[in-house]
Amino acid sequence: DRLVGAVADGEDLAVEAALRPRDLHEFIGQSRVREQLDLVLAAARARGGTADHVLLSGSPGLGKTTLSMIIAAEMAAPIRITSGPAIQHAGDLASILSSLTEGEVLFLDEIHRMSRPAEEMLYMAMEDFRVDVIVGKGPGATAIPLELPPFTLVGATTRAGLLPPPLRDRFGFTGHMEFYEPAELERVVHRSAGLLAVEVSAEGAAEIASRSRGTPRIANRLLRRVRDYAQVRADGVVNREVAARALEVYEVDARGLDRLDRAVLHALLDLFGGGPVGLSTLAVAVGEERETVEEVAEPFLVREGLLARTPRGRVATPAAWRHLGRTPPEPAAG
Ligand code: ADP
Repeated sequence: DRLVGAVADGEDLAVEAALRPRDLHEFIGQSRVREQLDLVLAAARARGGTADHVLLSGSPGLGKTTLSMIIAAEMAAPIRITSGPAIQHAGDLASILSSLTEGEVLFLDEIHRMSRPAEEMLYMAMEDFRVDVIVGKGPGATAIPLELPPFTLVGATTRAGLLPPPLRDRFGFTGHMEFYEPAELERVVHRSAGLLAVEVSAEGAAEIASRSRGTPRIANRLLRRVRDYAQVRADGVVNREVAARALEVYEVDARGLDRLDRAVLHALLDLFGGGPVGLSTLAVAVGEERETVEEVAEPFLVREGLLARTPRGRVATPAAWRHLGRTPPEPAAG
């Protein structure tokens, strides 16, 4: 439940539907993936057929669900949305697949978390538009082949490398989603502000964008918190100062670090002289679980070049010292 967490919370889900771009032109950034998809979809439309299966890889909140909806819209096709963890048994998948209509888009989020038997059923469905439904148990079990209408699978995963190669190979196209540049996030903020009827200045949008960790979902969430502040503590207009003051209240700093991120850096600098220090020791020092530090705080700190994972332990980079307003130690001579 972090303000700067990339995974959707309940409030995100409630408002995101209204903020989603509806077509490829409205979709901001990701120019490479956008152009590639544009070609794939235009070619499928010209052939009057169904688009190839698409794999989208990238961190949460970068727009994978949004793109899958855009794919359906561009193909004038309905869409069904499910996720790997929701498919426990091959039978769950069989019932979804057998109810698809011709050309339908099936969005499978977190596809790397599907069960093994379901995954194997998916291979055949993707390749031959066919599944074998097993009826009965033990020696008497029989496989009843079932023809499926052609459909487009859009799989989403945090990293394409997590997928077994046979599954990866069955996608006609893989789009790698990148973190967004600040200028792109400013456009996201302006667009969302328009839809939410919030007045935002250019500097206000820039201030929110620079704290959004390259992620549109976070930009939209910070915008909502800043809007609250602007309404209650200011005149409703989001300018640079209002955005900065609001996000100070929520402890999101100029670079998008929150309390936990800064606690990790402070411990590293103040208690361990900048490291190297082992992960477990560091976790104890900030009073968090090892996994929390490793999975929640570190990825962004590493991405920002503030922390390095070395064989001898975690090390604060000179940028980390400077970010906390300190002077980095001189590198040891020799
Ligand atoms: P993911 O499926 O990768 O977790 P989503 O597609 O749910 O991410 O996107 C999260 C939110 O961010 C959506 O509500 C959408 O409004 C916004 N968003 C994502 N990508 C873009 C974009 N390129 N342009 C504008 N808004 C975006």
